[in-house]
Parts: sequence; C-alpha cells; structure tokens
Amino acid sequence: MRYRAIGWMLFSILWLGLSLNVAQANELATVLNKIRTTPAVAGGIAWIVLNSNNPTLPPDMRYNGKRVALWFDVQTQRWVALVGIPLSTAVGTQTLIDAQTNTRYPFQIVDKKYAEQRLTLKNKRQVDPEPDDLRRIEQENKLVQIALNPAWRAVSLLPLPLIKPVAGRFSSPFGLRRFFNNQPRKPHSGLDISAGQGAIIQSPADGIVVLTGDFFFNGNSVFIDHGYGIVTMYCHLSEIDVQENQAVSVGQPIGKVGMTGRATGPHLHWGVSFNGTMIDPMLVINETE
Ligand SMILES: [Zn+2]
Repeated sequence: MRYRAIGWMLFSILWLGLSLNVAQANELATVLNKIRTTPAVAGGIAWIVLNSNNPTLPPDMRYNGKRVALWFDVQTQRWVALVGIPLSTAVGTQTLIDAQTNTRYPFQIVDKKYAEQRLTLKNKRQVDPEPDDLRRIEQENKLVQIALNPAWRAVSLLPLPLIKPVAGRFSSPFGLRRFFNNQPRKPHSGLDISAGQGAIIQSPADGIVVLTGDFFFNGNSVFIDHGYGIVTMYCHLSEIDVQENQAVSVGQPIGKVGMTGRATGPHLHWGVSFNGTMIDPMLVINETE
C-alpha cells in the first residue's frame, strides 16, 4: 500500500510538472504570436525569420551593433530574431546583420501615431533642470545605458511572456508624445500602472538585478537583466527591496510602488528594453488590462 501511495505521489508530481510546462509553452506561444502579428513600428519589436536552421547553433544577430534576442521555431526549423526598434526610428528600411556570415536582413518600419499627453508640474526644476541637475542627469544616463546593455547572457528559455509586475490599471501607455507645462519633452518610454503607495512590485521573469538607485527623474529605480538582452526597469518606487547583482525569480518582490522622482501621484513606471531599446511593454505581456 505504501509503495502504491508513493507511486501516486510521484505520478502526481510528474503530471503537475508536465501540465505546468504545457501552460508555460502556451503562454509563450500566445505572446510570440502577438509579436509576430504586430507591425514593425518605432517602439515595437520586428519579427525577422532567419536563414539559420541549426537549433544548437544560434546566430549572432546585430541591430545598430547590438545583439538581439532569438527564438528557435521548431515547426519551421528556423531561428527568429526579435528586434527592439527605437521610438525615434523613421519610417523606412532598417537592417539586421548576421555578425558571423555578414548576411543582411533588410526590414521595413511602418508608421504609428502615438497620442499626445500634457502634464502640469508644480516643481519647475523637473521641467527645466538646473545646471547641477543636468550634470546629475548626465551621470545617471550613463549608468542607465550600461544597465540596459548588459553583457550578453543566453538563457535556456526566452523569458517571455513577462508577468504584469503589479496589479492595477494601465494609466499611461507607452509612446505618448509628452508636453510638461506645454514644453515638448522626451516621449513616454514605458508603461504606467496605477497602484497605491506601497503596493508590492514583482519581478516579471527570472533575472539578475543590474542597477538600483535614486534618479533625478525616475526616483528610486531597479533594473533587471532577464537574459537575451531583455532588461526591465521599475521607477518612482517608495522602497527598493533588492540589491545589485542579486538573482531574482519570477514573482519575487523587488520593491514597492511610490512617487519618488518626477511623478504626479503613486504609480509604477515600467520600462522594457530589447537590445538596449525601450519597447512597448504591452507587446511582451499576455494581460490586456
Ligand atoms: Zn511613466
């Protein structure tokens, strides 16, 4: 009897493991389908089917000199490149390059009109920073660029989809053309999620914390490298609960929602970067609200 019980237990564990894997595979297929069927726009992800067909030999694909994320499609036996396109990219032809064979893959960027957003800030320094602030911002931008371009780290599985890092409604979409006190400023390079002060933020995938700090515009921030050149950022936190170089698992708390830095109320500003480029986070999650 005891052996039978142990047998059932092992069977149940195996079955649970298998069904979790199947669920994970379905989630990945859903998000990849969204990326594949969404046109390549500035701030989006281009889906480029490559000639490379050896599953054990991923090619080294570069866009603007930066290595890009890959996925092997077992059905077509082809590697696919997922290329983050900068918001500043004009409509027209871009080129992805295979660094080993020099094969060039031209692809087209199509137009997308992002909406406008007008905000009034009482703190004038956050609209027109003073010389000291500008020096600080310049230093911080260097740190951010390093964080968004970590050493290439191939992970066993493409870390997608990302889970929504905090519960709440999407309050401000990616790509908004912003005006602060009627002055044009950089477009919105992340997705805002409305949540109460102190709400717990979870890591959207496994990863390694590459940068934490208190930034002029972004307030308390955390950057996580998920591998394959995919990095996420969390801004305006009231509290940071991880340290640089710390490994984090999907769902692990990393900090709490706040309104530090340039924020008009508590919310999470969530940034997602592919190949050093901020892209629309809605493309890589399966939740729609
Ligand atoms: Zn934001």
